[in-house]
Amino acid sequence: MIEQDLLHRFLFEDLGVRGEWVKLTTSWQAAKQYQQGPQNAQLQLGQALAAVVMLSATVKFKGSMILQAQGDGDFKALVAQSTHDRKIRGLIRSNDHVPTGSLETVFGQGRLVITIEPDNAQPYQGIVPLQGKNLAAALQTYFEQSEQLKTRIWLFANETQAIGLLLQELPAQNNDQADWERIEILAGTVTEKELLELDCENLLYRLFNEEKVRLFDAEPVEFKCTCSRSRVERTLRALGEEELKDILQEQDTIEVDCEFCSQHYVFDRVDVETLLSQENVTNPSETRH
Ligand SMILES: [Zn+2]
Repeated sequence: MIEQDLLHRFLFEDLGVRGEWVKLTTSWQAAKQYQQGPQNAQLQLGQALAAVVMLSATVKFKGSMILQAQGDGDFKALVAQSTHDRKIRGLIRSNDHVPTGSLETVFGQGRLVITIEPDNAQPYQGIVPLQGKNLAAALQTYFEQSEQLKTRIWLFANETQAIGLLLQELPAQNNDQADWERIEILAGTVTEKELLELDCENLLYRLFNEEKVRLFDAEPVEFKCTCSRSRVERTLRALGEEELKDILQEQDTIEVDCEFCSQHYVFDRVDVETLLSQENVTNPSETRH
């Protein structure tokens, strides 16, 4: 059976190296259908979604992890998000044509931001320049600079699949450099064809059959947008009463489309009055000051 929409973790128990493998099919196709843009920009989103699922499994948190690339080139922005339970969504903003090439060619001058938004705590962020031959290279730089962990990442996406493979040194261990190098060399032989055609177990066997690898149970990944009417209301409230009333001077309703899933939210005058009055009910302490 070909495994799909799954994340697998694995561990080279004696070597202090961990790994992850992800294959997205239905979830990738679902996320992509709401995004407009040239094919090469879309496929970058596939790679970013595969990456963010793997990265979300390298840290313990409850909430969302967001991988964001922003630049001043033809590809303006890419956002890929995964929750701790592997619900993914993503978006792209680009011109009609995006050149193919290094990250600088595609995005111009830009930055790669990784944000963790825990459910009940302040978000935290890591930032690196958007440089290198591809997203995998930029993420490797990110881990080397911000976490000081040796990391190798492979990302691949086509119209139907998005696939990722990650190898990383475990933190705070007295790792043997030679072990890491051997694993790196073995993994370096992986081909696009193998990533596309093999499931995790067969791929690990193909690459590391002489090594002792422990494969953990797979976790399902699915496309699910976390937008909701109450979240949109919160955003509108943040715009402020004056701004909302200005908009309603010119039009009868305020309409908001979710960029991730195209869900359409409509607020008429009564809705806006209601959401503004709710603010006073839900935040009495703020109105007192
Ligand atoms: Zn949505």
